Amino acid sequence: MKNADNVNYKSSLKLYKRAKKVITGGVSRNTIFRRPHPFYVAQAKGSYVTDIDGNTRIDFANNMASLIHGHSHPVIVDAVTEQMQNGTAYTLGSEVEVEFGELLVERNKEFEKIRFVNSGTEAVMSMIKAARAYTGRPKIAKAEGAYHGTYDFAEISQIAEPQNWGDINKPNSVPVTYGTPDSVKKDVIVFPYNDIERTINLLEANKNELACVLIDPVSHRVGMYPIEEKFLLAIYNWTRKNKVLLVFDEVVTYRVTYSGAQHLYPVKPDMTALGKIIGGGFPVGAIAGAAKIMSVFDPSRKVIKQPHSGTFSANPVTMIAGKTAMQLYNRQAVDKINKMAAIAKKQIQEAIQLAGVPVVITGAGSMFRLHFRHKQPRNYRETYQAPEERKVIVDLLDYLFLHENLILINTFACMFATTITQVEVDRLSQSLYNGFKKYKAEIHQFAK
Ligand code: PMP
Repeated sequence: MKNADNVNYKSSLKLYKRAKKVITGGVSRNTIFRRPHPFYVAQAKGSYVTDIDGNTRIDFANNMASLIHGHSHPVIVDAVTEQMQNGTAYTLGSEVEVEFGELLVERNKEFEKIRFVNSGTEAVMSMIKAARAYTGRPKIAKAEGAYHGTYDFAEISQIAEPQNWGDINKPNSVPVTYGTPDSVKKDVIVFPYNDIERTINLLEANKNELACVLIDPVSHRVGMYPIEEKFLLAIYNWTRKNKVLLVFDEVVTYRVTYSGAQHLYPVKPDMTALGKIIGGGFPVGAIAGAAKIMSVFDPSRKVIKQPHSGTFSANPVTMIAGKTAMQLYNRQAVDKINKMAAIAKKQIQEAIQLAGVPVVITGAGSMFRLHFRHKQPRNYRETYQAPEERKVIVDLLDYLFLHENLILINTFACMFATTITQVEVDRLSQSLYNGFKKYKAEIHQFAK
């Protein structure tokens, strides 16, 4: 394992060797930076993370988009510390759970009822189960390549390779891992994002068995290209006509406006899955939506249509952290973070021009992603990175991490926190410029 020039990561390497003896892969997540091995953190504050070798980096990943106020925001830390004196988890409800529920329901009129869980994966899973319980039908439809967490049905077709894509008129339902049983495939319809005709044909062919259409309005893995309004409207109208539920995964995109990305469009989903930022830095998920659908979870009914539990669901520590974070994420804060991201995108655009590289930016609000190509990709197949392209991207990410001290998400995405200022934005655009210049020939070679 070669050490990159001038970068000290001896302590991380040592800890990695120790970790591998007890933790498969040395860390419990596959998606974090792990080249040449995972790095380990000593402390984090605001937009800065310091590893155990003393390297301090600007964090544009913010724990995969979940830390809307950066690390250890003092107001959240105080609120959580106070709560911890009064218990961290009860076998009973708590007032702070109700207060947090009220806060979120007030933010979105379409959230008539809400329930809390512990992760985005769990929220998407419970939402799909609620849709099945409500409609009495088994199938779901999801966009090709879209990531919705690790529930078997939601995972289908995620990171699919070209040899598995199948006919664009009827994309294959490919399980992402060997751990997913083949039996799951028949209940997941995969549609091409932003393609009205093909999608409606696929929905029509399955209409009597479909419980819901699952959509992430600015799907990260599909390319972070916002869903086109006419496409979403076509699906929405089709679901209304056919009594199929339209459910949104806003686990990532809720940050985009004060009331989520759904408020950018003239449609109202039946249910929404939330997560990430609403936990204020703690594990969280939530399902929110129409009262009549959410009633499938109601324990006071004679027959509960869909059981719903979770040992740590709505624990008061997460609830107080989430409530405090979302109070701080008021309309002014949303405006400010989106403006800061817009400035960053403009500066990066200038860096792209100045360096003379074929790079385009997609995204919405405080989240954006860079693609090494000439045209904005509108769907998963256009976004897909071939191994040669992936190699350049990985080299560039390594360069930014090890030599420019920036943390980006592996897909080359940035998820801003409210703690990011012009200082960090200037560093980002300057470092990207340096990287573009360094890898210019390679980027040109593989950009489509
Ligand atoms: N949906 C989307 C759109 C996501 O990006 C993620 C996580 N990256 C999830 C669901 C799953 O959330 P979690 O990791 O909290 O289970």
